[in-house]
Amino acid sequence: MTRITPELIFEKGYDGMKNNFVPKMDVEEVDLNAILPPEFQREDIDLPNIPEFTIVRHFVNLSEKNHSLDRSIYPLGSCTMKYNPRINEVTARLPGFAQIHPLQEENDGAMELIYNLGEQLREICGMDAFTMNPAAGAHGELTGILIFKKYFESKGLKKDKIIVPDSAHGTNPASSVMAGYSIIELKSNEFGEIPLDQLEFAMQGGDVAGLMLTNPNTVGIFDRNITKITEIVHKYGGLCYYDGANLNPIMGVSRPGEMGFDIIHLNLHKTFATPHGGGGPGAGPVGVKEELIPYLPCPQIVKGTQGLACIEQSDTSLGRVRSFWGNFGVLVKAYTYIKALGAEGIKRAANMSVVNANYLRSQLQDIYDIPYNANGRFNMHEFVMDCHLPNGVNAEDVAKSLLDRDLYAPTIYFPLVLHEPMMVEPTETESQRDLDKLITALREIYELAKINPEQLKFAPHKTPVGRLDNTYAARKPVLKK
Ligand SMILES: *Cc1c(COP(=O)(O)O)cnc(C)c1O
Repeated sequence: MTRITPELIFEKGYDGMKNNFVPKMDVEEVDLNAILPPEFQREDIDLPNIPEFTIVRHFVNLSEKNHSLDRSIYPLGSCTMKYNPRINEVTARLPGFAQIHPLQEENDGAMELIYNLGEQLREICGMDAFTMNPAAGAHGELTGILIFKKYFESKGLKKDKIIVPDSAHGTNPASSVMAGYSIIELKSNEFGEIPLDQLEFAMQGGDVAGLMLTNPNTVGIFDRNITKITEIVHKYGGLCYYDGANLNPIMGVSRPGEMGFDIIHLNLHKTFATPHGGGGPGAGPVGVKEELIPYLPCPQIVKGTQGLACIEQSDTSLGRVRSFWGNFGVLVKAYTYIKALGAEGIKRAANMSVVNANYLRSQLQDIYDIPYNANGRFNMHEFVMDCHLPNGVNAEDVAKSLLDRDLYAPTIYFPLVLHEPMMVEPTETESQRDLDKLITALREIYELAKINPEQLKFAPHKTPVGRLDNTYAARKPVLKK
């Protein structure tokens, strides 16, 4: 196998190369120093003199080094990398949406879309009101936990702890701490579920504001005791927060509001089909039950007798969590997605995400260790494998070896409840044929671990760079040679 390191743009030019498509300059050259003081001038970065087609080929080639959903499966657990239908892009680019300014007078259409999307999400989640303002999942969590805080303050109660199970997404404890709470961590049991007796014990402390639950949790398990869990928390005056970033497998099937949850956030950029990764853009709407509506952030859109109206601020509200209305383009995409699928389609997508995950699991569980299904239960949309392969081959080796097979690797080393976790989420938009490619690759890697572990230990072999120091590369990336 040979590694092909792409050339830099600086290496492509050579003396005498002509750029034929740029017309000859027919105006007089000016002395830059005469019009711009040197400190405002750009350093000479010595760009090479190369023709247009070389530049185009250079950047197209680089873009092809990127793995993307438009190339093949992207089974990144917890991230819900589903195919994003192109119709969403078409509507988000309609000039009436794309070129609207938040301060312009006429924005009835945008307000209506935001309101209607809120209505759809209320229906899907069984909640009473939604804010579209938060810009991402973690931002939604912070908003939700600040609502917890407002609620208890308004009742004159001092509660400074939040219960977070160890099967929660990492952002859950982080958001709670940012909002000023300390964490009581609950260890999940052998089924990946919350031990009810320990939950009750923790709630009895009296200083607990409530529970933050990721459901289905990060091992892909839907907690069977979900209504008992919310009952226990409520019995001691606590609130229940539902991390609904993973709503994909249950949308249209069951509703967190009916499970007893008081607050939920959703990740529109996962479940409701907006391209994401590499930092954005996202939207993390937060839904609440009736009792918590007064604390929602402003501005809010409400429906009155005169039609839609905007509440700019209120005495009880948390205040602003973001400029203007949130990431409007993402809201348009989510709205389109829900409209295009309809109630039946939403439910079918949820069911297929579960079928796909369980198909993958069933084709791998004879060789890979897949815990938390001891009693033969199905997973939801994802599952976690503990990758202890022969000859010490581990999760990272498997992940890097997948890259050599032109597949994207699932999430590794998360959740922290296992030693060599690999978290697989195929999503509903993969065909059986594409799932089979991943299965074949993972089985092949397993066999290779027995006879040629060295090849796996030094993978990837075909990518532009080999193994990096994970920590250093993330903190101090070297983006040029
Ligand atoms: C992705 C995810 C989050 C965080 O969402 P961001 O938009 O990345 O901030 C929170 N909880 C769960 C369960 C997630 O999967």
